[in-house]
Formats: sequence, structure tokens, C-alpha cells
Amino acid sequence: MPFSVEITPPVTTPPRLRPISACIIGMGGLGCPASLALAADGVSKLTLIDPDTVDETNWHRQSWFNEEDFGQPKAERAAVRLKARFPHLQITPRVEAVTVDNVQGLLRTHTLAIDGTDDTRIKFLLSDAAVLTGTPLVFGGVIRLEGLTFRIRPSGPCLRCLFEVPDAEMLSCAFAGVMGSIAGFIGALQGELALSPLEVIGKATLHRFNGTTLRHRRVSIARAPDCPACNGPPDTLWNAWRAGDDAWQMRPKPLPSLATS
Ligand SMILES: [Zn+2]
Repeated sequence: MPFSVEITPPVTTPPRLRPISACIIGMGGLGCPASLALAADGVSKLTLIDPDTVDETNWHRQSWFNEEDFGQPKAERAAVRLKARFPHLQITPRVEAVTVDNVQGLLRTHTLAIDGTDDTRIKFLLSDAAVLTGTPLVFGGVIRLEGLTFRIRPSGPCLRCLFEVPDAEMLSCAFAGVMGSIAGFIGALQGELALSPLEVIGKATLHRFNGTTLRHRRVSIARAPDCPACNGPPDTLWNAWRAGDDAWQMRPKPLPSLATS
């Protein structure tokens, strides 16, 4: 044999419980690995939110499900599997969508939140609600063969700081044609980021993972001075959300042109 590897079985002690309640919005390719990471790190309460059922076209990249779950609510089936693996965990499955009406209450009643959705509009709604309520939110998304994640703090930067010109196609094709392993990596990283030490106020670290080169890069990002969520009056943005579904497309005011001399 050219080499040998000695494998030591892992020590299976239960995680030390931490007084943290987390909500995960979306129990698909991101939410499943994120929930495992949080449970393994000792989070004591988890709320799993997803209005959808397990679909036979994409269940293979959603690690908690198998063929027996087809047609059943994702939040409930994931809760069953998590409870079997982590009996200490308090889990609340909610088979419902996140909306303008319930998102603030949801975030205010948890220590932190994970964005596991693949809907651009909901991602901006969650980002705006995180800035408004002060509950940290870990954004995650997969665009073709690249995965992105960073933590949104109340002081920003937020999703609007990162994507100054929202595009309908930007994140809506989140899982179209992507490798499940990219979503698995990003979801697990979201869980770890949620519990990691906070960055300097007004800054965040964007993690970019390229599924082709397998390169992981960390990029420092800062709050945009013209971001309507981080810098504008909170009521303005929230009134726009209540008025219609296109509030996520609100763009920052253009920067004043800089005089040159
Ligand atoms: Zn912002």
C-alpha cells in the first residue's frame, strides 16, 4: 500500500446547549445543512419555516428528506429528522410563508435568523426586517456555480448595500442547475457564521465560493452611504413594503456627482 490512514471514530457526546433561539426561513438546499450546523453547535431552540412540501424533483439536495417524504411539509419532516438526531433540541415547525405582516414578529422573537430561501423578493424583505428589528440575519444564495453568504447586522451592511441595483433574475434562479454540494457548503457556512464573533460595526465579510475552481474567497464589504435600509428613515421603506410587492426594487438614491478640479 502506498500509504495507510488510521481512522479514529468520532466521540459522540451531545453538544453543550447554548441559550440561543434561531429561525431558519426556507428548509431546502440551504436550510437543511444550516439547521444541522446550528443543532450540532448546541443551539437550544430552532424554528423551521417553509410553506412548501418535499418535491421529488429536488429532494436529493435537501439532506433531511427521502422518498417517504414526498408531498409532506418540509418544515415538519425536517423537524422530525432533527429531533431524532438531537433529542435535546426544542423545534417548532411552521408550514407558512414569510410575509410583510409576520416577518418583524418572527425576527424579534429569535436570537438570530438564517435566510434559506431562493426568492429574491423574500431575501430583500428579510434583509430589511433584520436591519429594522436588530436581529442578525445570515444571507445565503447560490447563483449558477457560485455561492454567497454574509451576516447582516442591524448596523449594516445589508443586502441593499451589496446589490445596489436589484435585478429580478439576480437570485431567483438560485438553484437552477447548480450542484447540490455548493448549496450544502453555503448552508453549513451560514450556520457557522450565525454563531461566530461579530465583525466591526458597519462592516461584514462576504464569503464567495466558486463551484468550478473550488476557491473560497473572503471579501470585506461596507455599508453603502445611500442605502435606503441602513440610512433611510425606517418608516419609508416599510411603508413601501406594505404598499406593494415591488418594494424590494427600491434603489438607493444616486450619489451626488463629485466635482473635480
Ligand atoms: Zn444597507
